[in-house]
Amino acid sequence: MKILVVEDEKKVAKFLKQGLEEERYAVDVASDGLQGETLALSGEYDLIILDIFLPKKDGIVVLKGIRSKQLKTPVLMLTAKSAVEDRVEGLDSGADDYLSKPFAFAELVARVRSLLRRGAAEKSTILKILDLQLDTVTHKAKRADKAIELTGKEYALLEYLMRNVNRVLTRTILSEHIWNYNFDTGTNVVDVYVNHLRSKIDDGFEKKLLFTVRGIGYVLKDE
Ligand code: CA
Repeated sequence: MKILVVEDEKKVAKFLKQGLEEERYAVDVASDGLQGETLALSGEYDLIILDIFLPKKDGIVVLKGIRSKQLKTPVLMLTAKSAVEDRVEGLDSGADDYLSKPFAFAELVARVRSLLRRGAAEKSTILKILDLQLDTVTHKAKRADKAIELTGKEYALLEYLMRNVNRVLTRTILSEHIWNYNFDTGTNVVDVYVNHLRSKIDDGFEKKLLFTVRGIGYVLKDE
């Protein structure tokens, strides 16, 4: 489980990183809103802890930005104790929970666990993009009523594309995520797999879902 902490107060950030690492989470820290948003959008985190008052980009703006890009990672907002409006605005903007500063670390960890459990429960259901469905438990896919047979790598690729619907994923990101190695410009393994996958999900259907973004990568679209 990997957590992103977006917090500009060095002491708080250090305390959170240390404490969460002791709980065996992997933790990255961003010290301003801009960096936080960029890291969050990598899609590599299971949870984001987001402070509201941040330099460069306010926490609420960051949150709205990542939700508008369909990133569904659970977000725990850190707010000032008195600021009720902040909490309301945070929840309205797509935060899953909030915690007022100052907080007890035990409470933070309890919230983190609960959000991660909720996230995992949601992940174990069926992903759906228009008439394409993927069951993340049985690994079965179907489009309309047609069952689609997938190899292990094709499944991983499709799941990742579906979880990042409408986001262009570069070959580098795909190869790191699916094959766990750095993209070697001499190989077209990503393209080969994407082409196989595309023919399985798009062939015979008028509405295409998987698109090539020339020179960049691929995107699965629901619009
Ligand atoms: Ca702050």
